[in-house]
Amino acid sequence: MTRKLPIIAVATAPGKAGVGIVRLSGQYLRPIIKALFQRDLLPRQATLLSLRDAGGQLIDQLVAIYFAAPASFTGEDVLELQCHGGPQLLELVMRRCLELGKEAGLVIAEPGEFTLRAYLNNKVDLAQAEAIADLIDAQSEAAVRGAARSLQGAFSDDINSLVEEITQLRILVESTLDFPEEEIEFLENAQARDRLSAVKTKLQALRNNAKQGKILRDGIQLVLAGAPNVGKSSLLNRLAGEEVAIVTPIAGTTRDRVKESIQIEGVPMHIIDTAGLRQTSDEVEAKGIERTWDAIRLADLIIFLTAPNAEKEANDLRVQILDAAPANCPVLELMNKSDLLDKNSGVIKDRALLISAKTGEGVEALKQKILETVGWSGPQEGAIVARRRHLDCLERAAEHIEKSEKFAANGNNSLELFAEELSLAQNHLGQITGKLLPDDLLGKIFSQFCIGK
Ligand code: GDP
Repeated sequence: MTRKLPIIAVATAPGKAGVGIVRLSGQYLRPIIKALFQRDLLPRQATLLSLRDAGGQLIDQLVAIYFAAPASFTGEDVLELQCHGGPQLLELVMRRCLELGKEAGLVIAEPGEFTLRAYLNNKVDLAQAEAIADLIDAQSEAAVRGAARSLQGAFSDDINSLVEEITQLRILVESTLDFPEEEIEFLENAQARDRLSAVKTKLQALRNNAKQGKILRDGIQLVLAGAPNVGKSSLLNRLAGEEVAIVTPIAGTTRDRVKESIQIEGVPMHIIDTAGLRQTSDEVEAKGIERTWDAIRLADLIIFLTAPNAEKEANDLRVQILDAAPANCPVLELMNKSDLLDKNSGVIKDRALLISAKTGEGVEALKQKILETVGWSGPQEGAIVARRRHLDCLERAAEHIEKSEKFAANGNNSLELFAEELSLAQNHLGQITGKLLPDDLLGKIFSQFCIGK
């Protein structure tokens, strides 16, 4: 993970474009620059240059920018070559650079290696490095803004200030441990409990923020389930059709799952329309139904769709779906085809959520209900993006804060344990920004980046 050789990669996306950028990073790039262009480059100046092959033939006329260490993205010397954006051309530029950089040890970068170097050289912390990938992968405007904020350090600042508060509390507790006779007064005098409760409140706010951030980043896996013909596909079309966002259908057979990604108020929803659930002897259909259950097991939210006159099947299915759904996954029950209902019938009074995929009745309310059910609290100023990893760290930190609270309540005999729990909470928070992170985890995080990042 920590090799020191200079690295090179195409930084722009594959395919044809007006401009394509080849980027190099290394501790000392000047010999490579000299070999490429027979001259030095002044830092931070765009220079129009010709790159030639070994036979002296022109490969491309390009704009080169040199960033001298440590004032660069990676903290090392960085060279950016802005070439014409053809894949073959970029390949030739790469090859020529590798030829001329061979002596200096120039190698092709691994996925995420530029950002890893930025992290290792303290240019960004881990949460910021992850935000770079999230910014590039962002699926909505809100996610772009959230990732940009995380990259600017909004999330890290909150974490750091919480860690600082816990540190202050620990210092108090630990200094008291050296003077046992003073322990008795400690908790009251130092207002330890008040401080702890302030930490707890802040941590809770951060968890809420991060939960929203995870929804922004990953979206919601929403599964439409129900008996055949209740109108699942019609509802999917209705939800997708009303969206201005780009819809990408990945269809299998008609009996297989169909997946469409839409946005509801900027929140990405990956809607999976499943095969209708029923007993069948048809092999293909049975396979589709099996996949439906797989989708249900991985859902963030399940919409269980029923229709008038299908009550009996619904009762059986409801039990099975609730049984298969993941522990924290909400199941929203809806009755479709409201247009067929006699408006005076008792059914309407019994059902909270009525829709008609055909007429569109209730669909707007459904969208709001979906957002509310997944815990989305609307666009927020200062929203960030967050990952499962961050939520896990915050959750573990919260568990230790809870425990420390119990020890604090026990009074003086538990001060040592109180301090220990605080320190454990602090460790988990530190893992978010990368302090105290095991090496193998670091490798795992950066290997998920694309090459060139
Ligand atoms: P799926 O098998 O659950 O995906 O159901 P489809 O979406 O294929 O719909 C089954 C049938 O019900 C089709 O003939 C639809 O036109 C009809 N349908 C779907 N939604 C409604 C609705 O809201 N009202 C009425 N009257 N018919 C509907």
